[in-house]
Formats: sequence, structure tokens, C-alpha cells
Amino acid sequence: MEKNKKKIVNIFLASPRGFCAGVDRAVEIVKKTIHKFGTPVYVRHEIVHNKFVVKSLISQGAIFIDELSEIKDKSRPVIFSAHGVPKEVINEAKLNNIIYIDATCPLVTKVHREAEMLAKNQFNIIFIGHKNHPEVIGTMGQIDNNYITLIENKSDIENYSPKIENNKFAYITQTTLSVDDTLEIISQLKKKYPSIKEPIKSDICYATTNRQEAVKQIAGKCDLFLVVGSRSSSNSQRLVEVAKRFGCKESILMHSDQELPIDKIKNSKNIGITSGASAPEILVENLIKEIKSITDIKFEEVVTSVEKVSFKLPTMLIK
Ligand code: SF4
Repeated sequence: MEKNKKKIVNIFLASPRGFCAGVDRAVEIVKKTIHKFGTPVYVRHEIVHNKFVVKSLISQGAIFIDELSEIKDKSRPVIFSAHGVPKEVINEAKLNNIIYIDATCPLVTKVHREAEMLAKNQFNIIFIGHKNHPEVIGTMGQIDNNYITLIENKSDIENYSPKIENNKFAYITQTTLSVDDTLEIISQLKKKYPSIKEPIKSDICYATTNRQEAVKQIAGKCDLFLVVGSRSSSNSQRLVEVAKRFGCKESILMHSDQELPIDKIKNSKNIGITSGASAPEILVENLIKEIKSITDIKFEEVVTSVEKVSFKLPTMLIK
């Protein structure tokens, strides 16, 4: 055998992966707002859950804040992140005469409108999601708390008791959940409330569904799965879980502080790679370069669907 010859590993790259239409739109909104209003522009919360994207926007003149009270110069515009915001945040902006541009993903807005309609029709809304996630805070903040209850798992269903005694139940979900875990929760809910009202179309968005589906196709033949994405990114975390659930022994979230797992890569024959909906493709390219520097790779892109979704920018920015 040739001395110093690198080991060959097979890389299976999942497609679709990475940026979704909602994230694309949110990033474009920040850039267009800077172009229209000059700098600085404020952005409430990480526009999308990715440090690389956030840093790049800071270098272009964005200032990230957690609350509107942190805005020093109220004559500057503020952008609301793709995750959506509670209504009280919009009211606060209006009250303080702050120009705001809403980058909430239209698929999150769809869930907001569902919640409003259900509350208007006096339903007990069971909201499946992850506590403290900004999207969940935003959705719960669309309506009076008396109509909506957050559940995170099947055991929460046993402890659930309706807030309104009228036997009207409906569920909605966060957009970035595990498709399979959520189906199990829904099936349990239907056992308890057979006539529960469902969304006409799943609230879990196309991007979350497609990225999980691509991972499912590859996971079974991989010894290691690397998911490029942030710790705060719900859809990236779900991809890590899906890879394990569908047969991959080890699955690692490649967030900004995660070092390359060199030994694990060298000991693997087949490695799956994907990225969450808020991770730019350059991070995947960099990861592949790093793997190439320590192994020889054979490369296959596994395409399970082709996405053609795009969302319009707010009218204020296209005029
Ligand atoms: S992950 Fe889905 S809901 Fe979230 S921004 Fe992307 S398309 Fe919209």
C-alpha cells in the first residue's frame, strides 16, 4: 500500500438543504432596508438563526437587538425577524412611531392567521411547539392567552385541560418541528379529541419537511451525519434527530463552535451532510473542504426534491 495514502470516504450530500425561501427573503429584507434607509437599521432578534449571516449583516450596518427599548435612535427603522413577533411588539413600534418592516416568513404568518381565526370562533387551540422558541412566542402572542395552550410532547396531552368549556378543539403547530414526532403527537391528540379541527395544510413548512425527507433517504447507509446549523435553529436540531432516528449511528450539529470531528470522520466509510434552513451554502462548502484535507472523498448528491418556492418582498421595499 502506498505510504501516507489517505482513506477514502463516501460523502452523501442531501438535497434540498440550507437556505429556504423564508430565510432568503428575510436576509434580502435587511439588505434592501439598508439600501433604502441607509445605516444603521435595527433588527429585532437574530434575523435567522445563524451567526455567520448575522455577522455579515452587522458588517453591512445592521444592529441586532432583543427588545425595541434598546433602540437608541427611534428615527431609524427596525426589522422583525423571520420567526415572527407577538402583536404587542408591533403595537410598541407604532406607539413609538418607529418605522418597522416585518420579515416574518409568510408560512409563519399563515399559522398566525389560523390562530386568530380559531380564537375568533372560540376554539381551544392546542399549539404543538417548543417552549421559548421565538416563533412560538410570536404565535402565542397573536391572540388572547385564554384560547391557546402550548404542548411539547405526548405526555403534555395527558395533563392538558381546556381553557374554555365548549368542546371545541383545534391544533396548530410550529413550522420547524420533526414531521414524525409531530404525527405521533397529533395521533394521540385525535384519540383524546376525535373531532379536533386540523389545519387545512400542515403547518410544518415545505422546507422543514423536504430537508428531513432528504436526510431520511441517506441516514440508513451512513456511519456519521454532519448537520451544518446553529444550536438555536430548531429545524437544524431536528435534522440531527432525524438522521439518528433513521439509522445513522452518530449525528453531529456542526454549529459555529463545533470543531471538525477528525477521528470520527477518519473512522467512517459513509458520511451524510446536510444543513438547516438558516445555514448558507458556503458553510457546507467549507466543511467539505475540511474533510477533503484529511481524507480522499467520493461524492454523491442525493436529490429527493427540487424546491421552487419564493416569497415576495414587502411592498415598502419594492416601490
Ligand atoms: S424554515 Fe419554513 S417557516 Fe421557517 S423561514 Fe424557512 S420556509 Fe419559513
